[in-house]
Amino acid sequence: PASRRVLIAGNWKMNGLKSSLTEIEALAAGYDGDLKAKLDLLVCPPATLLISAAERLAGSGVQLGGQNCHPAPAGAHTGGISAEMLKDAGVTSVIVGHSERRTNLSESDAVVMAKVKAAWCFGLLPIVCVGETAEERDAGEAVGVVTRQVHQSLPEGCTASNLVIAYEPVWAIGTGRTPTPEDVANIHGTIRSVLRSQFGVEADGIRILYGGSVKPDNAATLMAVADVDGALVGGASLKAADFLAIARAT
Ligand code: PEP
Repeated sequence: PASRRVLIAGNWKMNGLKSSLTEIEALAAGYDGDLKAKLDLLVCPPATLLISAAERLAGSGVQLGGQNCHPAPAGAHTGGISAEMLKDAGVTSVIVGHSERRTNLSESDAVVMAKVKAAWCFGLLPIVCVGETAEERDAGEAVGVVTRQVHQSLPEGCTASNLVIAYEPVWAIGTGRTPTPEDVANIHGTIRSVLRSQFGVEADGIRILYGGSVKPDNAATLMAVADVDGALVGGASLKAADFLAIARAT
């Protein structure tokens, strides 16, 4: 929709070495006038590459994101990376509550909310991930689970300019399986109405991304669904050519 600028975000997860910076350079080169006119492009490489990636992206308009931040501002949290550190590295957005962290690292809705607040403290745009597991979908609980996650992961004060949501059905991540456009429309519509009831009219400007096995050949179909304002792309974001093809197909 005209009022919501499309966002195509890439999550490299725990992939990428210094040699992968050529992909970052290719993204910077490929984000041409046509793409700039129609969408925002964001790449989230691992933390070790952020500072070098920021140098490669400078002046290109491609935005840089983190994959996670610690809820605390600083202190005795060995291995932690704070929102301020991300900001200092040249980051403008941060993925929060990815299902791999919710599942494997027991990240609760309450922790996700604390991370959103930490991101806000340093002016970062949090991309909050929600989504049901296969078991939850099969039990008819997808709408209920996603509604609960949105309610409980978001602090007061969410607006179009300080929040992005990503709906990522867990069973679609890295599997090559995607929900039908009808299923995506149903969940995105649900998220939109939950946001509206929680935050009022401001919610209508909040972007809701779809994530889970987005590829160049299914991007156009998924991105055409009502209330889908972009994509969060995992595997297909590792190669600049694929990631740019997804952006162009949108
Ligand atoms: C993700 O992990 O955010 C994701 C959507 O992964 P993939 O595109 O590989 O399914």
